[in-house]
Amino acid sequence: MSNLLFALYILLPLSALAAIWFSFRYAWWSKAVDYKHPRILMYHMVSDPKPGTKFNGLRVSPAMFEKQLQWLKQNNWNFVTMNQLIDNHSQLPEKTVALTFDDGYEDNYTQAYPLMKKYGACGTLYLVINRHNNDWSTKKKAHHNSGELVKEPKLSDDQVNEMVSSGVFEIGGHTTNHVNLNTIDKQTKYAEMSESKAMLEEQLNTAINSFAYPFGIYGTEDPAIAKELGYTNAVLAEGGIETDIDKNRFKLRRVKISGKDNFLAFKMRMKTGKRGWKK
Ligand SMILES: [Zn+2]
Repeated sequence: MSNLLFALYILLPLSALAAIWFSFRYAWWSKAVDYKHPRILMYHMVSDPKPGTKFNGLRVSPAMFEKQLQWLKQNNWNFVTMNQLIDNHSQLPEKTVALTFDDGYEDNYTQAYPLMKKYGACGTLYLVINRHNNDWSTKKKAHHNSGELVKEPKLSDDQVNEMVSSGVFEIGGHTTNHVNLNTIDKQTKYAEMSESKAMLEEQLNTAINSFAYPFGIYGTEDPAIAKELGYTNAVLAEGGIETDIDKNRFKLRRVKISGKDNFLAFKMRMKTGKRGWKK
């Protein structure tokens, strides 16, 4: 086959297919969600991926996290905590971003905290009280029993105290034991959500207003329970960019920042809440 025919019949269709794949994977053509809507980002660990493990989506590498902070700063994003977001949401400037971290992994202190100080960022940490030796991943799916997350070091109370007194972090509730709210009775649910709040308030000597549903799982009555217990807002584990903070005060959507995303995907998520066309 001549080179010309090869190009016509093989390379052209292949590159067209590649372009289509790229377009749907990173839907660069989709419209930005209005920048008046703040972006609430969800992180877990800031650590390098561990080859061959299941939860690398929860591990954003320190290098990628720094690149994200640098980009946010260079593009004039305004960092807020969840309290600041809720208290001022009608007067927030365009391009406001709330960084949130779930569970209380130690790398939030060793990796995220110094980088956030460096770039003048702040964030909200949803902290589990009994976070050491607690294999909560099995509470979502019984077969998630590899012990991968239980082996990850968690924050000490001293580290949490320092992160809070620096002003870089604010703390939110994430239950006492990282329970699955859909599998426990009402009494346990109240205890998990309120005792953790009281313990954090005692430890940190400040009001705990924000709550994150563990695994993002919640029952129909749970938003009302969070409100009844004195929280002022609660976040989900997914959903993209929240566009109605008043209406969804106890069901706020978050943009999932995955350790499996590249930098283009991060920029797409800041623009549309999604990496590509569908998710
Ligand atoms: Zn969690």
